[in-house]
Amino acid sequence: MRFDNQVAIVTGAGRGIGHAIALRLASEGARVACASRTQANAKRTADEINGKCADSAKAYAVDVADHRAAQKIGAQILEEFGKIDILVNNAGVTHDGLAMRMSVEDWDTVINTNLRGAFNFTQSILRAMIKQRSGRIINISSVIGLIGNAGQTNYAASKAGLIGFTKSLARELASRNITVNAVAPGFITTDLTVGLTDEIKKRIQAQIPLGKTGRPEDIATAVAFLASSEANYITGQVLCVDGGMVM
Ligand code: NDP
Repeated sequence: MRFDNQVAIVTGAGRGIGHAIALRLASEGARVACASRTQANAKRTADEINGKCADSAKAYAVDVADHRAAQKIGAQILEEFGKIDILVNNAGVTHDGLAMRMSVEDWDTVINTNLRGAFNFTQSILRAMIKQRSGRIINISSVIGLIGNAGQTNYAASKAGLIGFTKSLARELASRNITVNAVAPGFITTDLTVGLTDEIKKRIQAQIPLGKTGRPEDIATAVAFLASSEANYITGQVLCVDGGMVM
């Protein structure tokens, strides 16, 4: 069990990729704080984990974009679990539209959730991690942060921002034995992508050398690797898990 006696926080654990990450870390021994916007979704994931391994998960409802709320929940998790070894900043949203017509609300919601949310949660546990002199922070970016996408200026900026955040934080924390990496998923089948038209899906699929879309579990596998001791000597990196879309 790679994560025996370890505590992980996964944001956006209520559905999709975050749900798969929470389950994967728990299946390898971690106790998991499942944080999500909607209490019912966070609880469903925590219940699923506890059904397999009693008392190893708790649910927390929080808007990651809210700095004060994130500090409060981070402190509560530290108190209830006693420590923190792994933070996965996964919560994310899209509000697509061409830049010319994008509302400032759509811009702010995406930047505040995807980028500021990662900063908020990181800050909430950083002091404890630094004191412990070990830790893993994994930020879920996107290949769109590397190559851009028409109609997603807000999303691409947030995901590119996460990469800059990852690299700078990796430099700040390396001497404290804390690694910080990003995973950049390609096209993964979740609620986030399910609403796309068949035509768009077909167009995206044609750009994937491996010829198929990814599963949330494919991202969870990469996160588990970066969170494990096998990745001791890896920091400040962006691991694309995208069927070869970006190479
Ligand atoms: P989903 O829409 O399936 O799930 C998103 C999760 O994030 C939900 O659990 C949701 O909470 C949570 N969330 C959203 N906003 C907030 C908020 N303000 N505060 C707390 N939690 C919030 O998305 P995916 O699983 O597909 O995406 C997960 C991450 O992976 C995102 O960062 C996304 O950008 C990234 N990604 C996804 C790709 C894909 O193809 N699917 C590709 C590249 C990157 P709740 O359940 O409570 O509503």
